[in-house]
Amino acid sequence: MPLQTTQAYVLRTYTLAEADKICVFLTRDCGKVRGVAHGARKMKSRFGSALEPLTEVALTYFFKEGRELVSVSTCDITRSSFYIASRSYETASALAYMAELLSEFLPDNEPNERLYRLVMAALAAIEATPEADKLWQLLRYFETWLLRLTGYFPDLAQCAACQTGIEKNVSAFLTVEGSPRCLHCSSGRGAVVDTEMRHVISEIFRAHPHEFATQLIPAKRLQQIGEMNYQIIRHALERDLRSRALLKQLALGQL
Ligand SMILES: [Zn+2]
Repeated sequence: MPLQTTQAYVLRTYTLAEADKICVFLTRDCGKVRGVAHGARKMKSRFGSALEPLTEVALTYFFKEGRELVSVSTCDITRSSFYIASRSYETASALAYMAELLSEFLPDNEPNERLYRLVMAALAAIEATPEADKLWQLLRYFETWLLRLTGYFPDLAQCAACQTGIEKNVSAFLTVEGSPRCLHCSSGRGAVVDTEMRHVISEIFRAHPHEFATQLIPAKRLQQIGEMNYQIIRHALERDLRSRALLKQLALGQL
């Protein structure tokens, strides 16, 4: 197979053999790709410090016939996440959470240009917004869009049971599976998505992350959206995310 060249974000790395690492990338051209970086653990490795989570790299790799993992040839930093991650422990944990979400949620080798651009825009907004409380607001933005672009976010405008529309000025209800229901079909049971939550969600889908970060949204509303998103995430993955517990502690109830 010919050499592939693409922009990519590093999602995670782990040790394979004494000198090798397995790396999971979000590539612009090919979606999530898992590969082996030979010699990545050696001192003065040719991969240097390029393999931190959500660092953007120029990646070249090639497929080997019958192998699940690609072989990483070069991996050069184009934009380090270090300057954002070193801002605070909360920010570093938020980046780890975003990388874990992407790593766990995406199928292998399925290109998704909009998702790649979401990561770029979310990181740029986090970098440009140093206020600690806005970090949680941008994380909610990222999560909600990630769920939408991977097909998991419910269409709150329509009841999935009776197919009738759910007007913006009434609550929608989510089943345990995250499927939307009108008041009649749910009998008021399930997770309530009230009109204020629905308004924030519609702003997330309308606004650029920089603009969304400037909006004043009550912490309680963001917390409700975070809980709703995490229910959908946990149901889809059938387990918890490792980075979630620490983040929840650091957010002091804002997650
Ligand atoms: Zn209905």
